[in-house]
Amino acid sequence: MSLPSPFADAASHHPRTAADGAAALSVADAPALSTVAAMSRARPPRHLADLDEAGRAGWLAELGHRPFRARQLSHHYFANLTADPVVMTDLPAGQRAELVAQTMPRLLTLVDERRTDRGATVKSLWRLAGGAAVESVLMDYPDRTTLCVSCQAGCGMGCPFCATGTLGLVRNLSAGEILDQVRIAAAATRDGTLAAGPRRLTNVVFMGMGEPMANYRAVIVAVKGIAAPPPAGFGISARNITVSTCGIVPGIDRLAGEGIPVRLALSLHAPDDHLRDTLVPVNRRYPVGAVLDAAKRYYSATGRRVSIEYALIRDINDQEWRATALGAELRRRGTGWAHVNPIGLNPVPGSRWTASRPDVADAFARRLRAAGIATTVRDTRGADIDGACGQLAAEGSRDHG
Ligand code: SAH
Ligand code: SF4
Repeated sequence: MSLPSPFADAASHHPRTAADGAAALSVADAPALSTVAAMSRARPPRHLADLDEAGRAGWLAELGHRPFRARQLSHHYFANLTADPVVMTDLPAGQRAELVAQTMPRLLTLVDERRTDRGATVKSLWRLAGGAAVESVLMDYPDRTTLCVSCQAGCGMGCPFCATGTLGLVRNLSAGEILDQVRIAAAATRDGTLAAGPRRLTNVVFMGMGEPMANYRAVIVAVKGIAAPPPAGFGISARNITVSTCGIVPGIDRLAGEGIPVRLALSLHAPDDHLRDTLVPVNRRYPVGAVLDAAKRYYSATGRRVSIEYALIRDINDQEWRATALGAELRRRGTGWAHVNPIGLNPVPGSRWTASRPDVADAFARRLRAAGIATTVRDTRGADIDGACGQLAAEGSRDHG
């Protein structure tokens, strides 16, 4: 492989895990660090949002409460966007604190918040039970307000251009931990945290830390909780939810069978296996042809146009012939089923890779459009606050350990 490698270990592109990292440490370091890793992997406490409506009522009964309290608590959580017992005046005063402590334990603790784009982008870094860190990013646009959520602390997929990939997998998030990112952002948006004043959270994208298909069960519970009308969920239309994957074919097919019209984004980044094997190591298991076939099946099953994500990396994947090859791969499977989103790489500290020059990005997009492929070059929101996937948390992990 003659490709410039941005990281020392980029030659061995196997999915990394926290355990792999621990194995590479010296014997003297191992006990302390493995304790830290084990703490970070600690499971979060059970939360109302981990369960569906029937499950919530059953759980309240198990805890010795009247089952209809589930509906009251759900109304506070999903409709009023609060987990503060003080405002839950419809609950008996003597039981409020206990009910909330039992069913809505604190899952996320804010450790850092950064604002940019003149107050239109807010990036939050959260500490989870056990100490792992994740981030979410709120982005306000004229026509929508989008939250980018994390579904795992770290990621085991090892894409070498991605800050999250460099962390390895720390642990999966629970559905409650994903939904609490949405609740807090929806409340802040409603209450005017954005420069534009009070707004409504309209979109959720699973493009923060982690690979949704590697934490499938929790992600589906979270998707249903985001989409269900209040008080069962937040009532954000499933059509405004995007699940982004590096291309795990069985996960794409399973999602297609759920009957939920979420948008699928496929992080392709290269039209040829030779390069994609390196940029997205899981390609060795699910190569370009197989993931594009699965993406097309997703379109056929749901009627939702698939977004093809393509981070343009200077002199690595931005050649015009690759745009032509991508156009041909998509056209071979039909017209109108995919939309390509080229985006300049957000450089990761310690990497030699950088974004394509703007004229090269434009030429890449032109070539795709000439092949009849809908293409929108995306801006990199929040780049000046390390707004790309996983960068704030990766920085936190460098600071703290
Ligand atoms: N694991 C999923 C979702 C999280 S990553 C996935 O890979 O799709 C969200 C998106 O950010 C993906 O399209 C990913 O390829 C992209 N990404 C990661 N690091 C990036 C970087 N440094 N610059 C630009 N895009 C990046
Ligand atoms: Fe994981 Fe997605 Fe980053 Fe790849 S791009 S390491 S799959 S979060």
